[in-house]
Amino acid sequence: MTAATGSIDGIDKEALRRKYREERDKRLRPDGNDQYLRLPADYLDDPYTPRTERAPKTDHVTVAVIGGGFAGLLTGARLKEAGVQDVRVLDKAGDFGGTWYWNRYPGAQCDTASYVYMPLLEETGHMPSEKYAHAPEILEHCRRIGKHYGLYDDALFHTEVTGLEWLGGRWLVRTGRGDAFTARFVVMGIGPLHVPKLPGIPGMADFRGHAFHTSRWDYAYTGGDPAGAPMDRLADKRVAIIGTGATAVQCVPHLARAAAELYVFQRTPSSVDVRGNRPTDPEWFAGIATPGWQRRWLENFTAMQTGAQAEEDLVMDGWTDLARRVRARIAELPEVTPQTLLAAFEDSDFEKMEEIRARVDAVVRDPETARGLKAWYRQLCKRPCFHDEYLQAFNLPGVHLVDTDGKGVERVTEKGVVAAGREYEVDCVIYASGFEVGTDWTRRAGYDLTGRDGRLLSEHWADGMRSLHGIHVHGFPNAFLIGHTQGANLLSNIPHNLTEAGRTVATVVAHALAHGHTEVEVTKEAEDGWVDLLLSGNGPLLGSPDCTPGYYNNEGRDLGVRGRLNGGYPGGAAAFFAYIDRWRSSGAFEGLRFHP
Ligand code: NDP
Repeated sequence: MTAATGSIDGIDKEALRRKYREERDKRLRPDGNDQYLRLPADYLDDPYTPRTERAPKTDHVTVAVIGGGFAGLLTGARLKEAGVQDVRVLDKAGDFGGTWYWNRYPGAQCDTASYVYMPLLEETGHMPSEKYAHAPEILEHCRRIGKHYGLYDDALFHTEVTGLEWLGGRWLVRTGRGDAFTARFVVMGIGPLHVPKLPGIPGMADFRGHAFHTSRWDYAYTGGDPAGAPMDRLADKRVAIIGTGATAVQCVPHLARAAAELYVFQRTPSSVDVRGNRPTDPEWFAGIATPGWQRRWLENFTAMQTGAQAEEDLVMDGWTDLARRVRARIAELPEVTPQTLLAAFEDSDFEKMEEIRARVDAVVRDPETARGLKAWYRQLCKRPCFHDEYLQAFNLPGVHLVDTDGKGVERVTEKGVVAAGREYEVDCVIYASGFEVGTDWTRRAGYDLTGRDGRLLSEHWADGMRSLHGIHVHGFPNAFLIGHTQGANLLSNIPHNLTEAGRTVATVVAHALAHGHTEVEVTKEAEDGWVDLLLSGNGPLLGSPDCTPGYYNNEGRDLGVRGRLNGGYPGGAAAFFAYIDRWRSSGAFEGLRFHP
């Protein structure tokens, strides 16, 4: 095996590089993100919880938390632990859960091991039932956190924020339900993938059959339920699903079993590695769940992912597999230079992707279908998928892969879906077309912030995001963002970012309250310094313009500095978490100004 060029175990690396480039090039489109559409209002209705009427709120709270998903729950929990009782969570959904509230499609489950993915397990005493828990259990866990920390008491559901205005010492929060209340602090945990999108395919409105987006699954039409009851109403239906990302990979096996005919319209195949799910053994779990266990597991998973020191791989799954291979290769290098490191990464990636492609051949019986299902790009170019029934579904008689060879669906007609000039007549079209990413934060949030001196957040971020740690923004006192950008930027386990950000915000708020400070704001110098530090790094780990287009790389369009500002701490995620822990516990809160 050679490290830099030539072949590894018979793989012609130059031929693979060429193939990857060709596959990317044929998928590039001039319209980038503009190819997608927002969902029309009737697609967005909440199919899960009836809306209840209530009087508008015009009172005052200490903290308003926008978003009742993991970000809001984690921050709310830490605030309560820190003694801040007066916390109001708002969400456009009918309950807690965020992405797990909306995404109830059949087969939905976490792709990252539950022990590191599901937050606050230790605090709530919950043992995940499986290594990769299914969606109903995760949603129930969100409710558990809400109850455990008393976050239901003042929560406002089915409530969308329309604007935030700094009044000096407090924020005015306005919502689509007529609320106009004030909050000393506002926390925004709106999530990276919460605005569903549709492909801009001509003719979608002409379709006479039934259509919905996967994040609003219509069980009334399909039959079945999120817990896995068979979708009996599809038994005589021809169903089209458009998209083959992580969502489709999980729901296709269920549709394949239920529908009379299933047409899977593919533009780019996903890489689908082994899942290897299993129930949690309570005895094993009791052995690992000693005090501080979840933090140790989180840190271990992150260390494995980011090349930091780790003695063992606790999680041992598809995410850490690539990292283990790269580590092993690096250990064998006679000389470690940037070039040999990059070559070691590439070799491991080629090897991994060859295995994933070989798996397609081993599982899928029809050679033409198998050819279509093979992914030709580096593993982290697109969201890696893991499943043990997706490829197998294409062996069922009623299941058809319609590979559009990178071109996408051409048109939707009254009767069905057209690809490569052929019309497929169907009764139902399911859009597994994902969520808006890469557009401006305020566009996705659905509201702007009017900060000190009337400055808008959209103006402050006109040339890209600016913050300290991804949390504090100059000119926007007492407002905190919870996310992954400009912090650790750990994409394989978003909850770890949220866990740490929630802890940081709770610490800062508790400090302000304990010392009678009515305002806290990052200084301009600290924000500028953090932005300079981010720009001194290599930019986001994922999202190379050399990759096949997708939301990881802004549909193949290099965003320049704006894109690099979407990255994280140059030292990597594990180093960021260590840094922020020191920053918090020093008590100096360097870069923040408390007033008075
Ligand atoms: P994605 O954006 O990943 O996938 C959208 C799909 O729609 C892609 O296959 C895309 O093709 C396809 N598409 C778009 N336009 C067209 C068109 N005109 N014709 C045909 N196909 C089209 O959305 P998902 O909902 O699948 O996943 C979003 C993210 O949510 C994931 O990446 C992951 O981060 C998260 N997720 C996590 C899960 C978990 O942890 N368990 C489960 C599901 C999702 P193309 O690739 O060519 O753009």
